Amino acid sequence: MNSQNKLILALDFGGTKHAAAIVHSGDRKWQKGRRALSPPFAGATVDREIMRSLIHQLLQGEKPGAIGVSFGGPVDATTGTVRLSHHVPGWENTPLRELLETEYGAPVSVDNDANVAALGEYRFGAGKGYESMFYITISTGVGGGWILNGRPWRGADGMAGEIGHIVVDPEGPKCLCGKRGCVERFASGPYCPNSAAVLAAATTSR
Ligand SMILES: [Zn+2]
Repeated sequence: MNSQNKLILALDFGGTKHAAAIVHSGDRKWQKGRRALSPPFAGATVDREIMRSLIHQLLQGEKPGAIGVSFGGPVDATTGTVRLSHHVPGWENTPLRELLETEYGAPVSVDNDANVAALGEYRFGAGKGYESMFYITISTGVGGGWILNGRPWRGADGMAGEIGHIVVDPEGPKCLCGKRGCVERFASGPYCPNSAAVLAAATTSR
């Protein structure tokens, strides 16, 4: 296969939804994409089945030349192993790269979603032309990714830039990680409306 025209499969495992898309290397436009929500209380096995079905719809028998994976949680990018998901049970120490390489017979790269997004912004978006940048993602969780001197900086255990569970108010409300007053407990997609409702109730009862 011509490396200029390799079919690349891109996968995004989120806390509440999943997405898959294909693109030819060198192209700047997706050829096709699919998304699906995870059912509430789904586990890692269900997530992987949903993704497999999206991939099947996209590839329709074609073989990918490479697979890139963005995962919504801490990942060991050197081995492509998911450490865990804070939102979905059952992902602990999943060798995602190995599983996908075995199933699709293509080289796979797996990284944390904020690191992947930071790399995307650095190459094609807001970070273009800069040597170093920090990217913040606010979705089901809150995460961050560093690019330092043109390269992703993952830090010890891949945790660099993971700002979601930094405690900003030790007396604050309890977070899903067990600590109190994390950044994510105040600023993530699911918690923002929740906090706004509590604030509105407090204001009207005054
Ligand atoms: Zn937390």
